[in-house]
Amino acid sequence: MAQRVRELRAAGRPILSLILGEPDFPVPLALREAAIAAIQEGHAPYPPVAGLMPLREAIAAYYQRRYGLSFHPSQVVVSNGSKQAIFNALLSLLEPGEEVILPAPYWVSYLPIVQLAGGYPRVVQTTAHQGYKLTPEQLDSVLSRHTRLVILCSPSNPTGTAYTLSELQSLAEVLESYPRVWVLSDEIYELIRYEGVHVSPAQIPTLFDRTVIVNGFSKAFAMPGWRLGYLIAPPSVAQAAIKVQGQVTAGANLIAQKAALAGLQSNLTEILSPMLQAFRERRDYIYAFLQAHLPETQPYLPEGAFYFFLDVSEFIGRRTLRGSFIPNVEELVEYLLEWDVAVVSGMGFGSDKHIRLSYAVSLADIQAGLPRLIQALRALA
Ligand code: PMP
Repeated sequence: MAQRVRELRAAGRPILSLILGEPDFPVPLALREAAIAAIQEGHAPYPPVAGLMPLREAIAAYYQRRYGLSFHPSQVVVSNGSKQAIFNALLSLLEPGEEVILPAPYWVSYLPIVQLAGGYPRVVQTTAHQGYKLTPEQLDSVLSRHTRLVILCSPSNPTGTAYTLSELQSLAEVLESYPRVWVLSDEIYELIRYEGVHVSPAQIPTLFDRTVIVNGFSKAFAMPGWRLGYLIAPPSVAQAAIKVQGQVTAGANLIAQKAALAGLQSNLTEILSPMLQAFRERRDYIYAFLQAHLPETQPYLPEGAFYFFLDVSEFIGRRTLRGSFIPNVEELVEYLLEWDVAVVSGMGFGSDKHIRLSYAVSLADIQAGLPRLIQALRALA
């Protein structure tokens, strides 16, 4: 879709692109300066496979400070993006054919990564009504002796909803009867939060020893192109992840690691507040707009990340002004593009009746483009 948007824009079309999964903000100054200093040093040796020790220490200290969790720096494994951290974790944990519970909607890459790692994805559908979150009853109904892992993403891409402490506690109670099952907690949006506080499953004592935390610098620090993420896991899994990574990419980009270290040593509130303020303003605007103009899409107020996931089933199966039939969500997305609005189909996220809107674009663009989305949908008969 990004490629399509580029082509259409080059042809002069004023596309409102609501597809991006990356902040529309520059890398914070302190991180840029640290990266430049790292280049100026002039040395570019292979970094240690698991990451620079000062960065691993800073990550462990960050989780201690912020969440009261005590990890030894050797439990932190730094990777080229959190996507690689997820891959490392799954290759380390899964035996062929073991099941991974994926609450849908899920982030697009989980399912193929599970398959590439030899696992079997067990998708569980959640609804807007339940805040797109897995319930203990649903979890209980799919757990079996074949289950190895549950993947949770909070705040979530694509929904922006987040688990509360009591919700995680209820899930943990169910997991007590399944001691072999691990939790992979994708916390990459943990700092992009408007409502409530982030809770990590690792903060629940019965899950501490079987949670792999995944986090990274692509969202809060706006540096997806510098590819840096990490996992924090109990020692056995961390050691296995290091072995896996050692044969795939070896250590992560040294310049990015030094920038990330500067990021963790900065005043996070100061770095993040301009971005968070802008995201919050856009989120509130879109939410009010959707409530007023598209209530049938079941809009809800996301607590974090920078997406809305809208139920567009009302508009599937209708006809366009030109008489074409819209048989599915993919065609609906194509149709919206004719109206110069680019959104992402829910299919990759495990839903055939949703679209995802990202608000990593300026409020002015949103204000100019959103009415077109309404017009386009209302034009369907
Ligand atoms: N997890 C989630 C939920 C994401 O949205 C993304 C990026 N879109 C990633 C992981 C991967 O991030 P990266 O590899 O850039 O750290």
